[in-house]
Amino acid sequence: MVEEVPEYGREFRVRAVQEITRFLEGADVSNIEFEGPEIAVYIRNPRFISENEDRIKELAKLLRKRVVVRTDPRVRKSKEATIEYILSLVPSDVNVSPEDIQFDDILGEVRVLADKPGKLMGKGAALRYQVLAETGWRLEVYRKPPMASRVLDSIMRHLAVASAERRKALREIGDRIYRDITVGTRYIRVIGLGSFCEVGRSAILVDTGESKVLLDSGISPSSNGVDALPYFNTPEFRLEDLDAIIISHAHVDHMAAVPLLFKFGYRGPVFVTPPTRDLMLLMLTDFIELTKGEGREPLFTMKEVALMMTRVVPVNYNIVVDVAPDVKLTFTNAGHILGSSLVHLHIGQGLFNLLYTGDLKYYRIKGDRGTRLLPPANEEFHRVEALIIEGTYGSKEPQPRDKAEADLIALVNKIKETGGKLLIPVMAVGRGQDILYVLNTALKEKKIPEVPVYVDGMIYEVTALYTEYPELLAKPVRDAMLYQGENPFIGSNIVYVNDESKRQEATYSQGPAVIVSTSGMMTGGPIIEYFKNLAEDERNILGFVSYQAPGTLARRLADGEREVEVRDDSSVRKVKVRMDVVSIEGFTGHSTRSELIQFLRYLRPKPKTIILNHGEPSALLSLAQSVKESWDKLGFEAPPELLIPENLESVKLYPRSSKVRVMLSY
Ligand SMILES: [Zn+2]
Ligand SMILES: [Zn+2]
Repeated sequence: MVEEVPEYGREFRVRAVQEITRFLEGADVSNIEFEGPEIAVYIRNPRFISENEDRIKELAKLLRKRVVVRTDPRVRKSKEATIEYILSLVPSDVNVSPEDIQFDDILGEVRVLADKPGKLMGKGAALRYQVLAETGWRLEVYRKPPMASRVLDSIMRHLAVASAERRKALREIGDRIYRDITVGTRYIRVIGLGSFCEVGRSAILVDTGESKVLLDSGISPSSNGVDALPYFNTPEFRLEDLDAIIISHAHVDHMAAVPLLFKFGYRGPVFVTPPTRDLMLLMLTDFIELTKGEGREPLFTMKEVALMMTRVVPVNYNIVVDVAPDVKLTFTNAGHILGSSLVHLHIGQGLFNLLYTGDLKYYRIKGDRGTRLLPPANEEFHRVEALIIEGTYGSKEPQPRDKAEADLIALVNKIKETGGKLLIPVMAVGRGQDILYVLNTALKEKKIPEVPVYVDGMIYEVTALYTEYPELLAKPVRDAMLYQGENPFIGSNIVYVNDESKRQEATYSQGPAVIVSTSGMMTGGPIIEYFKNLAEDERNILGFVSYQAPGTLARRLADGEREVEVRDDSSVRKVKVRMDVVSIEGFTGHSTRSELIQFLRYLRPKPKTIILNHGEPSALLSLAQSVKESWDKLGFEAPPELLIPENLESVKLYPRSSKVRVMLSY
């Protein structure tokens, strides 16, 4: 009978070191490090890993932590010799060049990009063991993505350059996570710093008395200055007390304020999924450029973004990691954009479980014929006592997806007749890929004629990233990509705009064209240029396919304003809008009202408390009202407590004093 291993603190660390030494006897352990939430064990005998995989799994189970075994850098072969060795093992019909082989010094990993990874790995794990035993590097084989992304490359390069700094950062983070508990979990409070009774600047502080965790840290796209930021100046929010930042997904309103916190002095971890990490780097770079382009001083620079990148801890879906002595985190798919997550926190060694949806897209697959890029949000959990759920569409049922697609197709057919341009503003992440996919599929099915589709802004880079993670896409898309070698984002008529001449061509060429461009709410980006030049021609159409925040140019146009002012270099230009303005709402990456209700119905287990945020007050009220009226039909055993706090209000979730709690009533 093995004695229970303590869960945290110095006691845990001492015991972990003992167990590791005992379990991995024969591996010649040279060092044990607590790197972020992982325990890294460095060994001098790489053959041990291949011969004792089960022993390492057993060890991880006993310690209830992620244990990664790496070779001591001193026993790794040189990179040149390793490349040569790997190339000698590649079958002649698989295409791998030396540039496709990259090294991660921290992880002791060699990554190989191959056009046919299955063929290369044909021998199963044997090849991996062979390379490890021979070179000391752990082999990982990836599919060569069909679109080249410069981002992942630059991330790898950055991490390689900053590898010493990154290792130091991870060890500091590990020290904090595995520190001794001081007071323990005294209570659980949730404090809204942004996105409560509004959409934008998402930020939620979770305070347990022992630790503090920030869920999301966004900037509102529809405000300026300090109003665009979460309430970081509240006395409860102190950077030096903050244990971790957890980001649900890479939209600006959920993550753009993270570098700012680094500017203010934060040096702790930022937990994200790997695609969220990649998208964040891309979006933040774009965010800085856009701000400069508007003649404003950016809130932060690439220096802070780079600093943030050294503290980013990527965590895959369904992996449990410690983020503080009394908080464990699990990400699961949220279905909203690539890498988007429902954030599950297990607090106080079994005391309480909190689920934060971020932005979610939930749908039942049965009877759903609409095309989707991503699978629906996860609905099953071990435990959930409280839920924080978004309610963007809490009061509104947009048209069904099929109808939205039909409407879009009709618009394309219309411009084919009139020779006009169809201008579609989209966010670079999510809707951009969705619309491209729909247009490409419609073209293949001959539902639309051969009309050029110009794609401008960050959409290309983001789309390339989508193709880097085919395993995260919805099954039909994934299968087409992996087994038929198709790329759903490329077609003979799709033109990725990468210079001014292409932009001119898109705007002024004779005949019809579709232009898909950022930003989705028309707060900046190339869409403004197109809009200025196309607005006064009544043959043209402005087609909205996403949510528009109040106050943004997009919202004002959608609401009927026909004379607007836009920036024109350094001056302001009046634009008379004669083009047709059409809103198609059914493409949303958010759950519709009925989908939110479905999510609550199929969510297992049922929470006792539901906090609504990320929506205009009327939307949140309407959703709460529905749950209040039909909780029994949704499968709740008792009426859940429904709360709609405002920013700066706090909700105490634990311990609960039922005497003073009353059901929310209106
Ligand atoms: Zn979002
Ligand atoms: Zn959002």
